[in-house]
Amino acid sequence: MSNISMLLIIFVLIVPCLGNDEEDNAFEYLKRFGYSSCNDSSASAVKCSENFNELLKEFQRYFGLNVTGALDQSTKAIMNLPRCSVVDKPRQSVLQQIIKFKWSRFDLKYRIESYAYSKEISHTKQEEIIQDAFNEWSKHTSLKFTKVCSTCLADIVIQFTSRDHGDDHPFDGKILAHAFPPTDGRIHFNYQDTWTDSYDSTSKYEINLFLVAVHEIGHALGLDHIRNKQSIMYPTYQLKQRSQILPLVDQQEIQAMYPKKVEEGEIVEKIYGTSKYRGQMKNGLRHGHGQIVYDNNATYVGEWKTDKFDGHGIYTSSSGAKYVGELENSTFNGQGIITYSSGNSYMGDFKNDKVDGRGMFTYPSGSHYVGEFRNGDFNGRGVFMWANGDKYVGQWKDDKREGYGFFINTKGQVQRGQWKDDNFIK
Ligand SMILES: [Zn+2]
Ligand SMILES: [Zn+2]
Repeated sequence: MSNISMLLIIFVLIVPCLGNDEEDNAFEYLKRFGYSSCNDSSASAVKCSENFNELLKEFQRYFGLNVTGALDQSTKAIMNLPRCSVVDKPRQSVLQQIIKFKWSRFDLKYRIESYAYSKEISHTKQEEIIQDAFNEWSKHTSLKFTKVCSTCLADIVIQFTSRDHGDDHPFDGKILAHAFPPTDGRIHFNYQDTWTDSYDSTSKYEINLFLVAVHEIGHALGLDHIRNKQSIMYPTYQLKQRSQILPLVDQQEIQAMYPKKVEEGEIVEKIYGTSKYRGQMKNGLRHGHGQIVYDNNATYVGEWKTDKFDGHGIYTSSSGAKYVGELENSTFNGQGIITYSSGNSYMGDFKNDKVDGRGMFTYPSGSHYVGEFRNGDFNGRGVFMWANGDKYVGQWKDDKREGYGFFINTKGQVQRGQWKDDNFIK
């Protein structure tokens, strides 16, 4: 064989494999971000027998482009956008969809090992931004995030680092950050990017730290990229406003992995020692409307504030006494009606569990007192009507007639004057 024909054979063998530079770069991109199942990093599309155009179509479908299978302008434009280097998984297997790596605890610790280089945002400000980013996820789940010291043991570890940084996912100019799923939890930001806290920077080099942090925390909690442009888990960087961070699609994704936060208004059931509560809660305390049943069968149903009976409610004691009315700080306070197991009842003002103010006290016999009370007793001005029709109108002290008053019986006999210790003096 002549040298020329040998060269020709080599030429024929090699040229179709290399393609052009743009296509090679595009293929490199598709492999890097999860569109190719070809593992040999040095292989071209031809060599690992995957159809470049089919992979391109997959990519175009993922990003909602026209599915041409050709490396057109809009496709190249997306490939040039700054992005996260976690893979896109366009063809998730059923197994991948089912097996999600997630944290088994909801109370997670994080630490910040290193910071962004930024003239604009101080370390303290960066810490605030990162805590705010965690809060976006805890708003919609039972997850709680606590920052610990930079060397303390933590579930999620945040670093600003550059180029090859020891995890086989080196940063380059296009990559903003990446994160590892639970229970790894590392989050790496590209130290060489220009991080900002501005939401209206027109510079394509300025990257909003909060937006990328919310995205990467999503990965550290177990979320994959989401092929919905509204989602914060979209693979490429999108400048968004602070108010529209987690749309419904992201809330649903995270709530599929972690329980929802118990919102005010939702009914929960909780055991307190031997008593059982069913009702609303806020910040872990009984708050709103709820009912508790104690083991001695006493019950309260009504309004709560920070774990206390507060507002309008009905309390029934184990002996069968029943209070319907206003409460404050777990005591009868305000207006209410109480019916005792003895058959006595009172309707009127209460203060700190005691009958206090103005009201009417009624005995089962039908006798009743209408007037002023203090500290649980008749105190002040009041009228007592006996069941037989007798009547006292006057001053009272500690349940006894004392001071000026008059007594009149059914026959019309009257005692008018001073009283002491329930007896007429003169
Ligand atoms: Zn990502
Ligand atoms: Zn890394």
